[in-house]
Amino acid sequence: MQTHIPPRSPDRRSLLRLGAGAALLAPLPRIWTPRPGPGKTRRVILVAFAGGVRTRETLGTPGNVPNLMRMAREGVVFPRVRTENLGHFGAAMTLFTGISEARGIRDNARGGDPTVFEYVRKELGWPADQVWISTSGGAQQANYSYSLHPDYGEAYGANTLDGDGVFNAEFRSIVDAYGKPKELSPREAELLARMRAALLAGREEDSQEDAASFARVESFLFDELRNGTADLRGAGAADAKALRVARNLMAVFRPGLLGVVLQRADVAHGSYNAYVEVIRRNDAMLGELFDAVRKDPELADSTAIFVVPEFGRDKDLNVRRGLDHGDGSDDLRRVAMVAWGPDFRRGAEVLEDVRSIDLCPTVCELLGARARHSRGRRLRQLFA
Ligand SMILES: [Zn+2]
Repeated sequence: MQTHIPPRSPDRRSLLRLGAGAALLAPLPRIWTPRPGPGKTRRVILVAFAGGVRTRETLGTPGNVPNLMRMAREGVVFPRVRTENLGHFGAAMTLFTGISEARGIRDNARGGDPTVFEYVRKELGWPADQVWISTSGGAQQANYSYSLHPDYGEAYGANTLDGDGVFNAEFRSIVDAYGKPKELSPREAELLARMRAALLAGREEDSQEDAASFARVESFLFDELRNGTADLRGAGAADAKALRVARNLMAVFRPGLLGVVLQRADVAHGSYNAYVEVIRRNDAMLGELFDAVRKDPELADSTAIFVVPEFGRDKDLNVRRGLDHGDGSDDLRRVAMVAWGPDFRRGAEVLEDVRSIDLCPTVCELLGARARHSRGRRLRQLFA
């Protein structure tokens, strides 16, 4: 894929001066191909179907999730994944670190354990634009992109795109104005600065190559805003945006590792029906992402996809006819994971227990890295 930088206008220059102006003079980034791992898998998409989702409303009600079922029929289902109920943030973090994040992890703070993103970037030497995380919103979720571990950390972090924070109507208006002969108002400049801060986990480019990749990212972002991601609305729109961004990232950057974090299913606390609606919509968006991979011959033969909630929900409805998470039931503590990819068995079901901490080391190994600090084990049941 070629970097496309639109023709310059005074306006474009003033936008870029806010950050990546140097990129216009930088050479195009080289075309990057992931180094061969042990099998055919060169890319992994890890979808944290989070917000608390029970198996009863997914595999237990196939009509809610036709796309997940499609993936399951061609892949491997683990109906008994043990999770720890540590709150949404810690439990989702566990999927990325392969460690039960029980050590007093505070909401809205980075963890101390390296993430899957850091493992692959450090060990495989992957450039910044090959490792991404697309989130459904909130500053808190930016903390999944890298840890505070002294051997890893920011230098090996994932690029973060917060779909709901960036792809909303307010930003859309900047893009509509973009390219017209008009100076940015202070408000527009502030919005643009915020958008840039949401990129690359706030890092500054420190080499020509980084600068070039920065410019590519910026151009992706503007295209994304033009192409309607900001127009996704209604129940669960933030999750829908995260999945749409993920699909487009696959098409544009073809990254080696892409995390997606959803969260809107948590409306279940107040309404069971709204929760089911979010699950159905997320399944439809997941179908878009799945098809984008399957219909691209190169991606189809090289990409593995994992979809798993961080934990489930209670067995019984609460007084509001919603579902909380705290009863210690199997509905809460066991979730279903679906895995699909060129190295995996097809149409298989693994009836034994596995753990949500096993995901991180499995992803690392697929790509040829090692999750040195993870307490999980490789999911050997994936393979024939
Ligand atoms: Zn909750």
